Amino acid sequence: MADPIRSIPTLEDLGDVAGRRVLVRTDFNVPMEGGVITDDFRIRAALPTITWLTERGATVVTASHLGRPKGQPNPKYSMDPVRARLAELAPGVELLENLRFDPGEEGNDPAFVAKLVEGVDAYVDDAFGACHRAHASIVGPPQTLPSAMGLLLQKEVEVLLGLRERPKHPFVAVLGGSKISDKLGVVEALLNTVDSLVIGGAMCFTFLAAQGHPIGASLWEPDQVDTCRRLLETAGERGKTIHLPEDIVGLDADGNFATYGVRLPEGAKGFDIGPGTAAAFTDIIMDARTVFWNGPMGMFEDDRFAAGTRTVAQAMADTKAFTVVGGGDSAAALAQFRLDDEVDHVSTGGGASLELLELGDLPGLEALRNAPNAPGA
Ligand code: ADP
Ligand code: MG
Repeated sequence: MADPIRSIPTLEDLGDVAGRRVLVRTDFNVPMEGGVITDDFRIRAALPTITWLTERGATVVTASHLGRPKGQPNPKYSMDPVRARLAELAPGVELLENLRFDPGEEGNDPAFVAKLVEGVDAYVDDAFGACHRAHASIVGPPQTLPSAMGLLLQKEVEVLLGLRERPKHPFVAVLGGSKISDKLGVVEALLNTVDSLVIGGAMCFTFLAAQGHPIGASLWEPDQVDTCRRLLETAGERGKTIHLPEDIVGLDADGNFATYGVRLPEGAKGFDIGPGTAAAFTDIIMDARTVFWNGPMGMFEDDRFAAGTRTVAQAMADTKAFTVVGGGDSAAALAQFRLDDEVDHVSTGGGASLELLELGDLPGLEALRNAPNAPGA
């Protein structure tokens, strides 16, 4: 197969954009409260690509989804607040109405694609967080228009595919979070490239159960125990290590704060990795040359159970390794500890980053590779 990164057209591959109308698919899915944007990070993140185009004389039309209006116009998900903020940051740049107001967006309806590309000369995808979906605005325009990945998407692809293709070793993946079934595919794929896996969060309990430890009333997924057992075996056979917690912090059956080893008594709930585990995980992160982190180590939203996540976040900041963080809640945790500037890359796409790591490709990237102006097309 051709180089998975170099075969995707970049902004340079658009040729001369002066006087041309360029549709930019952005991820303006910003957090809102009562019609007010609470964090405009995603709008600011799109500015480098927008500026690149406008400085070269292009007319930029942006388009994004916002929330889940499910194919119907809904004032609650109107783009008006985003449009107002965009007008302050990038005057003269247009923004279409919420793409998901039309069922054709999620349904990838050719009629909706035709509407999107009408009067448009070129297409740029800068919405990494939506690239794992074969939606109209992601896979449609590159079928006919000269297309490119925007600067934000390019960085994501270079960093995440770089982790798959040529990580510096030791490469450690630190995984946590709540839902193990969503992430087992990634765990399996990561076993091909990492030297060791570090597992915390609610995820660890299904693994601990697979090792035969009683896990009390902690969150786990009984139907994934066999898969976890198999993964532990596979890792062993391939000479890789899966590091699991050696101590757990949580609440006992009466709801009192408690610290345990790996065996939890009946009724006890584990909500964080213990201090011994956090120290051991820190050592592993400090000794690595590449670290990918997805999923908090505990229920960090509750101060009593934030220590494990905080310690791992601090290790990510302190290590000399190349550090990448993916996942909405992991990124939120980093930001909460004010360590988001201390890692090398925070991915803007939760699901998309995991899917790219797991499969090595995304529908949106595949579409760009097949665009009329793609290198080698
Ligand atoms: P990300 O968004 O980074 O991919 P997830 O969505 O998988 O992460 O998981 C984040 C959630 O997992 C957080 O809300 C956190 O409270 C929860 N969580 C982590 N560890 C535990 C635990 N031991 N018990 C219950 N919930 C947990
Ligand atoms: Mg999440």
